[in-house]
Amino acid sequence: MSDSIKDLVIVGGGPAGLSAAIYSARALLDAVTLEQSAVGGQVILTNEIDNYPGVPHTDGFTLTDAMRSQAEDLGAHIRMENVTELAHDDDTGEFEVHTTEGSYRSKAIIVAGGATPRHAGFEGEDRFQGHGVSYCATCDAMFYRGKQVFVIGGGNSAAEEALFLTKFADHVTMIVRKDHLRAQAVVAKQVAENDKLSVLYLTSITKVEGGNLPRSITFRNNETGEETTRAYDEGSFGIFVFVGRVPASGLLGDLADVDAQGYIVTNERMATKTPGLFAAGDVRQKSLRQIVTAASDGAIAATSVAAYLGQPVEG
Ligand SMILES: Cc1cc2nc3c(=O)[nH]c(=O)nc-3n(C[C@H](O)[C@H](O)[C@H](O)COP(=O)(O)OP(=O)(O)OC[C@H]3O[C@@H](n4cnc5c(N)ncnc54)[C@H](O)[C@@H]3O)c2cc1C
Repeated sequence: MSDSIKDLVIVGGGPAGLSAAIYSARALLDAVTLEQSAVGGQVILTNEIDNYPGVPHTDGFTLTDAMRSQAEDLGAHIRMENVTELAHDDDTGEFEVHTTEGSYRSKAIIVAGGATPRHAGFEGEDRFQGHGVSYCATCDAMFYRGKQVFVIGGGNSAAEEALFLTKFADHVTMIVRKDHLRAQAVVAKQVAENDKLSVLYLTSITKVEGGNLPRSITFRNNETGEETTRAYDEGSFGIFVFVGRVPASGLLGDLADVDAQGYIVTNERMATKTPGLFAAGDVRQKSLRQIVTAASDGAIAATSVAAYLGQPVEG
């Protein structure tokens, strides 16, 4: 571990972390942003972004690469390291951050680790992941051009992704556990009006079998419990799973409160219950998980860190 102590370690290099990096660089904090896989976060492979204000149409890589270079131009340090452990010393108030490459001491932390897709839990799901089972329509839709697609989930994301998939697939069937969709009314209306999209209510997928690619699906009628297995040509269909996300809050242990889904509870300054520990972006409990809200959280969190450290703040 280095003897020097950082002002701030930012965990995660998605929109929230990069925004925090920009604001902490402008506040002249001695900060480092640590990213385990790809700077830019979960949106990096998204082809179409039409809702980031001031940028009418872009893709995830272009937008987040601009955030990265803006941060680095302002003096931010971004390193490819996976944070594996986080500890807090109650006496000194300092944090210890352990990574795959080493460790850091820091006066403050912003956790901006985002959230990863939840699995549906059917037999064969892990085996066929990336070979017939996907969690990212934008990444994999093109592989299902002219094929059948099943979308598991009845929420907003599932409905929006199912609508998106109709642009590629021959037909999309939503598999919905309950007897209704939980999507916003406007999205549910689009689902109802799309003739390439149908919904099987009160249905779950329990098993997928096949060779290199899936060849059959077992459906369960959730009302009667009856199971039906349907066979398809190998490679003629795909299953997309959109049943929620798992927030990257596991590192925190008791240092922060989390809600029933594991999202970190913060106040409006992005502060957790531990002094000096902040959270930003999709990892925290909030009503809208988008790039613009992640960037907003990151800005607020970094400004809160500057205030916590007694530095002048923007605004
Ligand atoms: C397919 C798809 C399409 C989307 N389209 C849009 C859209 O059009 N418009 C929009 O506004 N939003 C969109 N979103 C949502 C948007 O991507 C998220 O709201 C946003 O990326 C959240 O940013 P974040 O920084 O909080 O988290 P993330 O983008 O998830 O970034 C978190 C980062 O932290 C890293 N990390 C996690 N744990 C660790 C660790 N222990 N150590 C180091 N690094 C770690 C992860 O690798 C990741 O890079 C889309 C999401 C998906 C999946």
